[in-house]
Amino acid sequence: MLNRLAAERFDVLVIGGGITGAGAALDAASRGLRVALIESRDLASGTSSQSSKLIHGGLRYLEQFDFKLVYEALRERDLLVSKLAPHLVKPVRFLFPLYKKVVERPYVGAGLVLYDAMEGTKRPVPYHRHLSARGALRLAPALDPARLAGAMLYYDAQVDDARYTLTVSRTAAAHSAVVATRVTAVGLTRGADGVRVTGARVRDEESGRELTVSAEAVVVCAGVWTDLVYDLAGVRAGYRVRMSKGVHIVVPRKAVQASTGMILRTDKSVLFFIPWGEHWIVGTTDTDFSGDRAEPAATEEDIDYILAAANRVLVRPLTRGDVIAVYAGLRPLVTAAEGNGAKGDKPTTKVSREHVVDVPVPGLASIAGGKFTTYRLMARDVVDAAVADFGREVPASVTDQVPLLGADGLAAVRAGAGRLAEDYGVTRATVEHLLSRYGTLATEVLDEIRADPGLARPLTEGHPYLRAEVVYAVTHENALHVEDVLVRRMRLFIESADSGAAVADQVGEIMGRLLGWNRRRRSAETRRYLDLVAAEHRAMVPGPIHEPALAVSAAAV
Ligand SMILES: Cc1cc2nc3c(=O)[nH]c(=O)nc-3n(C[C@H](O)[C@H](O)[C@H](O)COP(=O)(O)OP(=O)(O)OC[C@H]3O[C@@H](n4cnc5c(N)ncnc54)[C@H](O)[C@@H]3O)c2cc1C
Repeated sequence: MLNRLAAERFDVLVIGGGITGAGAALDAASRGLRVALIESRDLASGTSSQSSKLIHGGLRYLEQFDFKLVYEALRERDLLVSKLAPHLVKPVRFLFPLYKKVVERPYVGAGLVLYDAMEGTKRPVPYHRHLSARGALRLAPALDPARLAGAMLYYDAQVDDARYTLTVSRTAAAHSAVVATRVTAVGLTRGADGVRVTGARVRDEESGRELTVSAEAVVVCAGVWTDLVYDLAGVRAGYRVRMSKGVHIVVPRKAVQASTGMILRTDKSVLFFIPWGEHWIVGTTDTDFSGDRAEPAATEEDIDYILAAANRVLVRPLTRGDVIAVYAGLRPLVTAAEGNGAKGDKPTTKVSREHVVDVPVPGLASIAGGKFTTYRLMARDVVDAAVADFGREVPASVTDQVPLLGADGLAAVRAGAGRLAEDYGVTRATVEHLLSRYGTLATEVLDEIRADPGLARPLTEGHPYLRAEVVYAVTHENALHVEDVLVRRMRLFIESADSGAAVADQVGEIMGRLLGWNRRRRSAETRRYLDLVAAEHRAMVPGPIHEPALAVSAAAV
């Protein structure tokens, strides 16, 4: 990929490997353009692995009269669930408990009628339903019956955000895009006229080597880093990116007895209980942020806010001891540029989630704002802007007809799961697990197992991930470090109480064999991961909640 970056001339160079950049790379590549995507760390290492992981219209935006956003998002949700990524985007149902007998039901009910109506009649998820308090408690015994007046039940969808971003970028690569991670844009180049942007100087973070990438247009999808990329170009953006921090906590599934997700109204916004395998993801917060954007950390106040909001409705309160992980992400919200009607004091919960495209100089286009759910439309809009002055016809976006890798033929492969299990000598549960993460590409992971049956073993007890998936992350999914595997290719970082520390050495050993690491390098890689975990735990909760597990695995290295 690095050789291609240096040697080829691209139509479009995308800076930023979050969902927006991956989407832009796929959009441009599937129009037949020559595309390169660079990401300074790992794919989805910014906001795109730290979201609530919902593909949704956003019920609360109806209250803000943001009808266009909700309408577009619902259409996108349905397209992803039914056609583009049914292996990754899955329907999920939410209970909306009601506490005010008379006024609340008609109000929320009307919102849901509108929500359902916006979606149209060809719908891959069911209509909403009204429930009595008894009906609600049957689905969610965890709710305190004392004030409960009833509930609504409605449907949205959920996704592993990091895996989705990775799959979009792999699909772009399947359409000939170059996708290079740990490559940072450190400068932008200008043409002979001194105006038009003609590419970027980039640094390979693994070797320190710098090279120049030539492109007819550069597309900036750098999320909360957008202003820094504008600084490289020496131009001012037509909008301002405001960072809003959102924190989630992760608790075991058994800590909250419910067979459905839940959404609660809070004073400022809403709080979700999102089912996540053997866990609940609970969040989020929405507060202005101005610290280190590479490492947004949750504060005690954030965690206490979430626990207090959750405990307002639960019979058995959640405590700090239930929390096995905390993660924080930064929303790249757009507001008007300074001196252009900017109002810095509007609460971030009230700032629109719509996106804005900017073309500050010829050859440079950028996009910010938006939502994970609407990434495909964002990608289309920014690529349209980038190619507008190419002086030749560029086909319109076709991504509404381009299923992601792993989606094509899914129904047949799912139906044949039993036969696959027999053919490869693994359990049916293993096949189901792989199908839910890789779709039809599951057979590529199974091929690794056929070549080395030892890879069928789980990485660790109590979690479904296999050793073969570590191999696959390296050979097919651009993973370069232990962190890439444990934080984003699989989610042990947030799914296990020790953040995956106990398996770091095992992952380093499997990766090292493929990447040619010697003993020293391998132990340095493992150490690097353990340092990350230790830092995370220190930032997460003062006091040694998880220190024993860390001490054991550190000793093993
Ligand atoms: C707490 C929270 C919850 C959310 N929940 C939802 C939700 O449930 N549903 C939903 O639809 N949306 C949700 N969102 C919004 C959604 O997550 C974001 O809109 C989306 O992930 C932003 O993606 P992005 O690609 O624009 O930015 P990012 O994912 O941050 O990607 C930008 C990338 O650019 C890279 N980069 C920066 N500078 C350079 C450079 N010089 N060279 C190379 N690379 C560079 C960074 O490393 C980064 O990876 C949520 C957001 C937050 C914070």
